[in-house]
Amino acid sequence: DAVEGAEADEADGLRTPIVAVLGHVDHGKTTLLDTIRGSAVSEGEAGAITQHIGATAVPLETVSEMAGDLVDPTDFDLPGLLFIDTPGHHSFTTLRSRGGALADIAVVVVDVNDGFQPQTIEALEILQRTGTPFVVAANKIDTTPGWNPNDGAPIQATYEQQSEGARGRLDENLYEIIGDLSDEGFSADLYWRVQNFTKNVGVVPLSAITSEGVPDLLAVLMGLSQRYMKEQMAIDVTGPGAGTVLEVKDERGFGATVDVVLYDGSIRADDEIVVGGVDGPIVTEVRALLQPRPNAEIRVEKRFDKVDEVRAAAGIKVAAPELDDAMAGAPIRVIRDRDRADVIEEVEAELAEIQVSTEEE
Ligand code: GDP
Repeated sequence: DAVEGAEADEADGLRTPIVAVLGHVDHGKTTLLDTIRGSAVSEGEAGAITQHIGATAVPLETVSEMAGDLVDPTDFDLPGLLFIDTPGHHSFTTLRSRGGALADIAVVVVDVNDGFQPQTIEALEILQRTGTPFVVAANKIDTTPGWNPNDGAPIQATYEQQSEGARGRLDENLYEIIGDLSDEGFSADLYWRVQNFTKNVGVVPLSAITSEGVPDLLAVLMGLSQRYMKEQMAIDVTGPGAGTVLEVKDERGFGATVDVVLYDGSIRADDEIVVGGVDGPIVTEVRALLQPRPNAEIRVEKRFDKVDEVRAAAGIKVAAPELDDAMAGAPIRVIRDRDRADVIEEVEAELAEIQVSTEEE
């Protein structure tokens, strides 16, 4: 019955790009994710599943509703965006996929008044090292002295309605951010002036509180993915899956479970899997695939819905025996029709890589 994740795109097999949010503490990463999640839930049509384990899926129709005139859904064939819910670069660096970054694209959040801070620079270095494309969200524009908020408006619409003084103060802060990016070696500009996003970093002024400019951010992420990542997104969404463990958690009635972001293929409720563990690969069998129950009440015992299959990209909780020693950041692979020894070897190789890179840090 229930198949979650990239169900609409079976024909062309394009998966959802995975988006991570990074930036200095208190610059607004969590608030931005909450805002996107909140609007996705309220705009989402009935049936459009948005809450995943460890991630929020924003389907294309929802992106287009949130972005208004900025996104014409007929221009896109990617199914939407999957935001990883755990912000910050610690989670970004520990979340890998086959040696690269788990996220396909990143948002670096910078407080427009506070400007670049140590963790901003760290985030940029990590993105450069991993070759991850990114945009900069110049957040908290609503705190510009004299700012008149227009909730949910695209940036240019709200900008035009501000006083000259407020506009000037915002411009000054934005140019400072563009200058700081340039000092770090990135040629950057306000996103609507960027012609080639492989050469220039786009800056999106926004407010995570008033949602001004959030339509622009979604439009830019969608546009960038469609333009530059389509090939990367073309996968066999029904093939044996590959993912990364976000967290290992005990759940009442299920024992140790792993929260996973699946970035390739599919996972089914009767699959045999290999999961990276503290003492090496764990070979086990899926007992249940679990998704959070929408609007679960605290009193309701069952917090999860069981699903039969999930397709990339998606967040999913996997219940299986023997997961106590599973490791956050480790790979998870579906065996299905593949050679078991090959899959175990792959997981072993990736675990070795994780060890090397943690020692480097
Ligand atoms: P994080 O540490 O990067 O996740 O930052 P948070 O999302 O926790 O935000 C830190 C503080 O800044 C909180 O008090 C937020 O309410 C506030 N904040 C975040 N975004 C905005 C914004 O766009 N405008 C205003 N006025 N406050 C914001």
